[in-house]
Amino acid sequence: MAAGSVIINSMSELPSKQPRPDVSPRRAIHLLPEALINKIAAGEVVERPASVVKELLENAIDAGATRLTVTIEEGGRTLIRISDNGCGIPAAEAPLAFAQHATSKIASTEDLFAIATMGFRGEALASIASVSHATMVTRQAADPTGTRVEVRESVITPPVPCAAPPGTTIEVRDLFYSVPARRKFLRTDATEFGHIHEMVLRSALPNPQVAISLSHNGRNVLELPATADPMFRVSEALGRELHAELLPVDLCERGISVQGFVGQPALARATAKYQYLFLNGRYIRDRALFHAIKEAYRGLIEPASQPVAIIFLNMDPMSFDVNVHPQKTEVRFRDANGPYRTVLAAIRERLLSSDLTPQIKIIPAGGMPAAAAPTESGAGNPVVDASETRRVLADFFRQSPAPQPHLAFGVEAPARNAPPDAGPVVAPNVQPLNPPARRVDDLTVVQSVAAQVRPMPETDSAATPAPTPAGPQNFVQIHNAYLVAQTDDGLVIIDQHALHERIMYEELYTRVTRQPLEGQRLLIPEVLPITPRQQAVLETVKPLLLELGIEITDFDAQSIAVQSFPSLLSKVAPREFVRDLLDNLLEMGNKLSREQLLHEVLDMASCKAAIKAGYHLTADQIAALLAKKDQVERSSNCPHGRPTTLRLTLNDLEKQFKRK
Ligand code: ADP
Ligand code: MG
Repeated sequence: MAAGSVIINSMSELPSKQPRPDVSPRRAIHLLPEALINKIAAGEVVERPASVVKELLENAIDAGATRLTVTIEEGGRTLIRISDNGCGIPAAEAPLAFAQHATSKIASTEDLFAIATMGFRGEALASIASVSHATMVTRQAADPTGTRVEVRESVITPPVPCAAPPGTTIEVRDLFYSVPARRKFLRTDATEFGHIHEMVLRSALPNPQVAISLSHNGRNVLELPATADPMFRVSEALGRELHAELLPVDLCERGISVQGFVGQPALARATAKYQYLFLNGRYIRDRALFHAIKEAYRGLIEPASQPVAIIFLNMDPMSFDVNVHPQKTEVRFRDANGPYRTVLAAIRERLLSSDLTPQIKIIPAGGMPAAAAPTESGAGNPVVDASETRRVLADFFRQSPAPQPHLAFGVEAPARNAPPDAGPVVAPNVQPLNPPARRVDDLTVVQSVAAQVRPMPETDSAATPAPTPAGPQNFVQIHNAYLVAQTDDGLVIIDQHALHERIMYEELYTRVTRQPLEGQRLLIPEVLPITPRQQAVLETVKPLLLELGIEITDFDAQSIAVQSFPSLLSKVAPREFVRDLLDNLLEMGNKLSREQLLHEVLDMASCKAAIKAGYHLTADQIAALLAKKDQVERSSNCPHGRPTTLRLTLNDLEKQFKRK
């Protein structure tokens, strides 16, 4: 909200048809009366009822309150009341609380650069009281009585003693009574209350030690008990369904501590509504840090969706400036790089060390609404779209002849390996707890999978030799596109292309970051036409392409020649690859970082090199793919963020078959 907007708005109240009033002759420069100064400040600080709630909550938290009661009527239009059990204000100081630039929180310039409280500007109460009827009742625990101060028409009444519990209650009535323009801008009560509710959450999340209740028009809307467990507060405040799919993050580096909770990729939303960022307990918005959160999910969610993340950042208050924004929701870091890297590292580390395979949510085949399992999340919780899986499975059972036992389970582990309670089916350990260390020559395994993949007659599979004992052993390929494999606690369905794409990507990435890829000289250079715009893009990526083993030279004025191409990508046609790459890069604009370029090139390479749907795989090839799955990072999703794997647990099956 622009400074001085109250005044501007009151001018806009003139009937629109009327010509602009004559600008009166210049007046002498004069100091504005305090009431007007306050209203101007209010234009910045008090945008809507929720802004009042924010300021009052901050004051209560600064006062060390452990219990807060927020009472709202008619969206905050008629009443906002916040009671706290904090330190209270001595009777003599109470009227000062409403004075402009009056604060107990800072005293010197040095203090301004090491803010440890939520407030410090000393203008909130003055601003609020300039556009409403405000009443404060406050008492310090040691005092025998409380004090009452009222502000009516911008006049502060002298304090009067009154009975009161320890703490402070501030009541704000008739908000914007004196600023009709602002009042007119208020939305419906429900909308305004929605903003208030959000404000209360923003104070509640970083302050689990404070019990908070919120009511609207006499109805209790939120009741958050005090707790020492931040996770419990998150789950109470944002919903228990969400909580079940959050992963804790915790990293302290370079004096910056990052704690909090991030959502499983499958939880990602269309908007960033569920991204909360707190700096030393203060809710902030920061483009760079939001970018870090998103970046941590690169390749795990689709580019248009937004992860769920509640991040509590703590660092030395000297290392950032809060005094850049009237509502204090933006800060300026002395070194923005540190927080960015720490947030990114904290989240990425957690994501990479977690099993992110989404659970299949089954909808009964009759098309009835899902008989939600008790653990299933409620509405609004995005789940993996099961329709595709259902379709595939349904097709499978409808059309397929009974799978040949030797094909499907020809490599079944000997029954004696079965755990005693696992029932008749052997459950080999598909996900080793300690995946073998990555070896350079692992790549050849995958390459050989890619290289060997050819449509081949079914009978070939019968002759398949037994796979290495370490790999997963119960699996079947369906529709030459999906792999169904048994796991410890159920089964997984894998999209063979998506998984192979991820494996290729990770392998290439590891390779490239270790040393430049080796290019192989083409016997006959592949020539392709190029436009001037493509040429410009090409110049920016040439050095990176060289590192990847792709050498491109000018051929003539309108064409270029691919001279060498990485031997690793022997399955990829160089001409088509370069053409598509240039097209994509043009589309992405010219401000790409090296990292983005690398991702783009590897994305394309892995997509083009990976096994497509429609290819039959031998048991050996499947085993090699599945074994790789456990060794690469982020194997739950392909480089574009789509899932590679869906999981169905025995528990779910038993529920679905009504055995439980
Ligand atoms: P600021 O919070 O920036 O200091 P405010 O206008 O919000 O400015 O509050 C002015 C002063 O009133 C605070 O510095 C604090 O001393 C006192 N105050 C306001 N609210 C409370 C409260 N709930 N409990 C105790 N003191 C309060
Ligand atoms: Mg304040």
